[in-house]
Amino acid sequence: MADALVLDPWGTSSIKDYTKLMQQFGIEPLSEELVKELPYAHRLIRRKIIFGHRDLGIIVKALQEGSEYAVMTGIKPSGDFHLGTKLTSEEFIYFLSLSPKARGFFAVADLEAYADNRIPLEESYQIALNNLMDMLALGLDPKRVYVYRQSEEMSVLRLAFIFSRSVTYNTLEAIYGQKPFSLYFSALVQAGDILNPQLPHNDGPKPTVVPVGADQDPHIRLTRDLASKHRDDLGFIPPAATYHKLLRDLTGQEKMSKRNPMGILYLNEGLKSAKLKVMNAYTGGRATAEEQRKMGGEPEKCVIFVELLSAHFLEDDKKLEELYWDCKTGRILCGECKARAWELISGWLRDHQARRSKMRDAAERLLTEKTF
Ligand code: SF4
Repeated sequence: MADALVLDPWGTSSIKDYTKLMQQFGIEPLSEELVKELPYAHRLIRRKIIFGHRDLGIIVKALQEGSEYAVMTGIKPSGDFHLGTKLTSEEFIYFLSLSPKARGFFAVADLEAYADNRIPLEESYQIALNNLMDMLALGLDPKRVYVYRQSEEMSVLRLAFIFSRSVTYNTLEAIYGQKPFSLYFSALVQAGDILNPQLPHNDGPKPTVVPVGADQDPHIRLTRDLASKHRDDLGFIPPAATYHKLLRDLTGQEKMSKRNPMGILYLNEGLKSAKLKVMNAYTGGRATAEEQRKMGGEPEKCVIFVELLSAHFLEDDKKLEELYWDCKTGRILCGECKARAWELISGWLRDHQARRSKMRDAAERLLTEKTF
């Protein structure tokens, strides 16, 4: 296909057209009917930030039958938690919250951090510890999750080796493009992570859901393919996945990059620098106050509205809608709107950071002790 989309889970994918993405890769839209089958809809589902899925029906069925299922996620420990990592963590916590029968599996992708960012394993341990403090402060119940480091999880490494017999170089190149072999290897390890919940010592095959950003779909496709190939010998059920949109950074750039520090809001960030970033965020405001009063703003284009309030900091749908129309009709100007947004964001950051500061011991236990 001449204008086919290429997704790079390690790099610079930016997606303009989600309909095209779904058509090209066979991702299903998250329909109203399916959402109604869930016990409740998370903010990210209600606002269509989670837009698609593969096979989510197997999780809905497990929920209806009251049977066990697994929720799988991981982090590449390469830096502090920011709004992007918050998104995936909230989805993980949400799927765990839907049933007492749900079990969480959380991989610290230290091998990937080494392969992709050359971060030594000892350093990634410290980063992961910090990240887990954030996860716990976001509401992760430590009793519901098994946390492990890829480099120490022998069953995952064994699976990666077994999978290496079932894929060719050409397949990996077709899925990921031309990459260093270490990244292909870490993709096989990730497939091992995703199917780890279904191994005999984790009570065998079970429906598994993996919430991801849309750019991570190559890993899901590879894993589902490997699961199908090993259905007979290992009994794997191809994992389900949900997909969220890739949100812009605070300056309105399509992809967050550490090269643009004004674009990233960290969860442990000091309030002074956080305020500076929020106040300088890209908006959908008009050139002058007069124009904005006359024509209204463009909330659909605005980072304050879309990325900050809708995706993260304004839970109340009614208030969000009110703000939308206040902006659209020019009843509110960007200065006042940003000040109101900052009140919400600073309150959230303060609470989160206070909770987070008490989580070091629990995070350490999660990283060092085997649960379940
Ligand atoms: S008024 Fe608020 S929502 Fe509207 S463009 Fe300005 S900052 Fe964005």
